[in-house]
Amino acid sequence: MKVVVDMNKCQDHGQCVFSAPDVFQLDDTGRLAYVSEPDDALRDEVEEAADVCPLQAIRIEA
Ligand code: SF4
Repeated sequence: MKVVVDMNKCQDHGQCVFSAPDVFQLDDTGRLAYVSEPDDALRDEVEEAADVCPLQAIRIEA
């Protein structure tokens, strides 16, 4: 699957990190880092992360 985060919208609050820690992390500087092509087994987690993102910045493309 393919994940895209609109970094212009993202404000690094990290709700997605709680929902899908295998895909989304905050780096040492507190900015969001993520796996852009996670395994399909993680789809449920990623969908939940997209749902909880307050900025609706997470898009699942495939
Ligand atoms: S929940 Fe949304 S705004 Fe917050 S860090 Fe994740 S992608 Fe960015």
